[in-house]
Amino acid sequence: MFEEVSQGLVYETLRTYNRVPFAAYKHYNRLMRSVSFFDIPFSMTFEEFVDILKKGTRQIDRESRIKVLLSVKTAELFFVFSPLNISSVEEGVNVKISKIRRIPDLSTPPSLKITGRTDILLARREIGECYDVILTGVNGQVCEGSFSNVFLVKEGRLITPSIESGILDGITRENVIKLANRLEIPLEERFVWVWELFEADEMFLTHTSAGIVPVRRLNDHLFFEEEPGPITSTLMENFEPFVLNLEEN
Ligand code: PLP
Repeated sequence: MFEEVSQGLVYETLRTYNRVPFAAYKHYNRLMRSVSFFDIPFSMTFEEFVDILKKGTRQIDRESRIKVLLSVKTAELFFVFSPLNISSVEEGVNVKISKIRRIPDLSTPPSLKITGRTDILLARREIGECYDVILTGVNGQVCEGSFSNVFLVKEGRLITPSIESGILDGITRENVIKLANRLEIPLEERFVWVWELFEADEMFLTHTSAGIVPVRRLNDHLFFEEEPGPITSTLMENFEPFVLNLEEN
């Protein structure tokens, strides 16, 4: 597969809940968006896509993580199935601001989920003992983690960088926004400045494998000692039952 990797891959990471592939349609759509962006001669129906996901996850006797990789050059699609291993994140994780700035790259906008993004590769090298690192944009706005989206809470309001900040429109991010609306938590999607993170009451990350990940420490700033703040905790408690009842899954 070296040839395909060196030429670039469009990819998706999915997981199962109760052994059923979760949000398959959204992942399929995001994949197909990249397919049309690169004009890749690839067509697979959603039914075929789900069929492969179901067959693969049946081979694993617990929750699975699925990587779907599509070669930009050869249009070959690979599925990699593995057991889902999530380290315990409920007690909070440490993150830091990356030194890497997201450079606006018109040839491959951040809304495309592709391997080999230089900013992400460089930022990931800084992770070390941290869970993830946060990339900022050239204007100093918060963008996203190297594999996650960012949320903060200030005075009861939930705030997250808007799509225009230069981010991937994460599927977990979208579900958290829907959940916040359902719970009537006021929400702002806008440019967020780095200093706002340090002045926030709560902060968390979102990504498919782990859902909502409370941030305990950002650089040297401690958000909580024992338990995540009230809004993060409420969203965490409600997340799984909420998303499993969403009609589109
Ligand atoms: N941002 C980036 C750069 C990512 O790579 C990912 C996921 O891998 C996310 C955000 C979170 O997206 P999702 O919630 O769809 O997993």
